[in-house]
Amino acid sequence: MRDDDVRALLLAKRADLLERMAGISAPPTDSGGISFGKRVGDGTSIAVERLTQVAAHEQMLTQLADVDRSLIKLDEGTYGCCDVCGDDIPAGRLEVHPSATRCVKDAEATAAS
Ligand SMILES: [Zn+2]
Repeated sequence: MRDDDVRALLLAKRADLLERMAGISAPPTDSGGISFGKRVGDGTSIAVERLTQVAAHEQMLTQLADVDRSLIKLDEGTYGCCDVCGDDIPAGRLEVHPSATRCVKDAEATAAS
C-alpha cells in the first residue's frame, strides 16, 4: 500500500474510533435520566453495562494510541518498522492491522505483560 492510502485508512479508523468513543463516554445522565436505585436489578445491569463500556472505551483508547503512533511513524518514515526491535512488520500483518506499530513477536510480548 502507498503511504497516502495507509494514511487515509488510519485517519478513517481514527474518526471511527473517536465517534464510537464519543457515543459511549457520554455521562449516563445525558441518556434520558437513568435512575439508580429504582430497582436493584436495573441499577446492577446498568452498572455492569457501564463497566463493559469503560472496558471498551479503554480498548479503543489503546487502538487510538496505535493509530496516532502509526500516523507519526508515517511522518517519520518508520512506518512498517517495529517500535521495539526495529524489524520490518510483515506486509500481511499491516494489511490486517494498518495501525500495528510492533511486530507479532513484540506485540504478543506486550500483550502478555
Ligand atoms: Zn519487534
